[in-house]
Amino acid sequence: MRRNADELAKMRQAGKVVAEMHERTRAAARPGVTTAELDQVARDVLDRRGATSNFLGYHGFPAVICTSPNEMIVHGIPGGYRLKDGDILSVDCGAIIDGYHGDAAFTMAIGEVTPEAARLIEVTERSLWAGIEQLRLGRRLHEVGRAVQQVAEAAGFSVVREYVGHAIGTAMHEQPQVPNYWPGSPGPTLKTGMVFAVEPMVNAGGPDTLLLEDGWSVVTADGRLSAHFEHTIAVTEDGPEVFTLGDRP
Ligand code: MG
Ligand code: MG
Repeated sequence: MRRNADELAKMRQAGKVVAEMHERTRAAARPGVTTAELDQVARDVLDRRGATSNFLGYHGFPAVICTSPNEMIVHGIPGGYRLKDGDILSVDCGAIIDGYHGDAAFTMAIGEVTPEAARLIEVTERSLWAGIEQLRLGRRLHEVGRAVQQVAEAAGFSVVREYVGHAIGTAMHEQPQVPNYWPGSPGPTLKTGMVFAVEPMVNAGGPDTLLLEDGWSVVTADGRLSAHFEHTIAVTEDGPEVFTLGDRP
């Protein structure tokens, strides 16, 4: 699906709201704060910007952000979990403006974390940017996953297979999928106006995942740490345009 200039403008606006949700939740996340409190911070941004949530009610999901600490990979439900010094926390959220979606995630250190945790966060973010760099006119979509995988595995980490990125537009999850690994074929040729959510999930140990009994929380099978970074990005004449970046450097 290729988006026209009006559609891209709406997605740019949705992306700015998501970036602000990130800024506010990042600033609020510290030892002693609960993940439910972070959800409320993100809800306040949506309300203030006149945006709606694409997470709340998604297959019954009860919050506007996902909060996934430590060995949790994605889809954690905000609640009574109280952040503590040494945690890492992944926050994933989205927003809808005039029917158009943004979706992005980050992982942060809470207080002082181990060197391995810090390196996992750094490498996962770097793998996202290596993937974004591939979103150029005429290239093939699965170069994204190849680049992500290369960065993650060169650092001695692994990429999750069961959960992947996606095209995005009038729905949060559109086809085609964007794997974080080389799936064995180059995939579609990239054209201007295509928009994707690229979202590497990188594990410190092996790539295998487990779904917890709440039906949402996905954790590493080996119990080791996992990090997650995501942006919503358009393919433009001038290269990749990241909608969910905000003003952060
Ligand atoms: Mg997301
Ligand atoms: Mg996504």
